Amino acid sequence: MDFELSQEQRMIYQYGDNVANKYDRKYWMDYAERHETPKELFRQVADDGFLGMMVPEAYGGAGQGMLEMALFMEGLANNGIPLLSLVVNSTMSLGLIAKHGTEEQKKKYLPSACAGKTKFCFAITEPNAGSNTIEITTLGKPQGPGAFSLSGQKTFITDANTADYALVVARTTPHTLVQRKTDGFTLFIVDMRDKGVEKHLIPMSLPMPESQWQLFFDNVPVTEADALGGVGRGFEILFDTLNPERIILSAMCVGLGRYALGRAVEYANQRRVFSNTPIGAYQGLQHPLAVAKTEIEQAGLMTYKAASTFDRGLPAGEFSNMAKYAGAEAAIHAVDASLQCFGGNGFTKEYGIFDIYPVVRLLRTAPLNRELVLNYIGEKVMGLPRSY
Ligand SMILES: Cc1cc2nc3c(=O)[nH]c(=O)nc-3n(C[C@H](O)[C@H](O)[C@H](O)COP(=O)(O)OP(=O)(O)OC[C@H]3O[C@@H](n4cnc5c(N)ncnc54)[C@H](O)[C@@H]3O)c2cc1C
Repeated sequence: MDFELSQEQRMIYQYGDNVANKYDRKYWMDYAERHETPKELFRQVADDGFLGMMVPEAYGGAGQGMLEMALFMEGLANNGIPLLSLVVNSTMSLGLIAKHGTEEQKKKYLPSACAGKTKFCFAITEPNAGSNTIEITTLGKPQGPGAFSLSGQKTFITDANTADYALVVARTTPHTLVQRKTDGFTLFIVDMRDKGVEKHLIPMSLPMPESQWQLFFDNVPVTEADALGGVGRGFEILFDTLNPERIILSAMCVGLGRYALGRAVEYANQRRVFSNTPIGAYQGLQHPLAVAKTEIEQAGLMTYKAASTFDRGLPAGEFSNMAKYAGAEAAIHAVDASLQCFGGNGFTKEYGIFDIYPVVRLLRTAPLNRELVLNYIGEKVMGLPRSY
């Protein structure tokens, strides 16, 4: 694998540094505390053509791949700006429509979404099925040729309040009636303005601009034309959005970990206690920082490997899961080691180090929890038996 980035890729990576001059961590935190979309930043990213990173230029995008999307996210997160709406909107929804949409779907949805005029959320999780996607019960019930009535419930749907459309993972055949458990899935593009769509806010303990919602679908009319990748064939394309989700979130973790470590190094080089030597010289602090730095850079490499595997059209599950695991764990360790350097100051609003922790800790649990990532690696990569 060639580790040299092209000039264009380096520019994409450095974009985060440029944006952060205008919209920095403090700006992001102001919105995070209010749980509101950082609209000026979102507009800037749209105007600069980055929302449609993975969408071909013919549909208003930048015509880049997963690696560039990850570089873009990593560059922003290096500056302490983790923009989750890029995950559900740009990567999971626009990227998937660009790859698997019909010509009509691409023309209808992509140009306005790339321009930031419309937004998507992505809805797979259900309260009862939880991590076991196979058992989701949201059902598109056939209502005559090519027509369905969608009913069911989703939970923890990021940005559902600001989304114009939801990409909803549903079944058109219940899991109890299919031959293979992966049969009968359909991904519907649902208009959030339909009167059968209801949303309820889930109050969260996370300082993030993005809010989380329960969604209820009550006999929402959808048609074959709204199905992405074909009716009953949703599972075949599902991992073209779930693997990118893992990759981009790992990129976000790598950037955030680096941001925390950068802040810690700056502080530990200046703060002096007990002697005239900066606390950064104490190996009790220095070694955990060095370990975390190593883990972060390892996770970064795994993220690039997963992204480039995906971009080459090769099976990307193995590296995407490893990247997600490595990124989340490395970022948690990096923030923890950094926090220790700051002593009491680490917990203050002024220094803002503890504020980084909730987002990286979230990534151990969601979107795919650490245990299921390890199950995948144990079973699918290493050939160990399944326990559940
Ligand atoms: C902030 C946030 C944003 C989110 N955004 C979205 C979104 O936009 N769209 C969306 O669809 N979903 C979203 N989710 C949902 C998220 O993907 C789920 O919360 C996650 O997949 C875990 O599912 P669960 O909460 O039902 O946990 P459960 O499935 O109930 O699992 C609970 C715990 O049990 C353990 N566990 C479960 N099964 C196994 C097993 N087989 N082996 C070992 N351990 C196991 C794991 O430790 C897991 O953490 C979001 C969640 C959060 C918190």
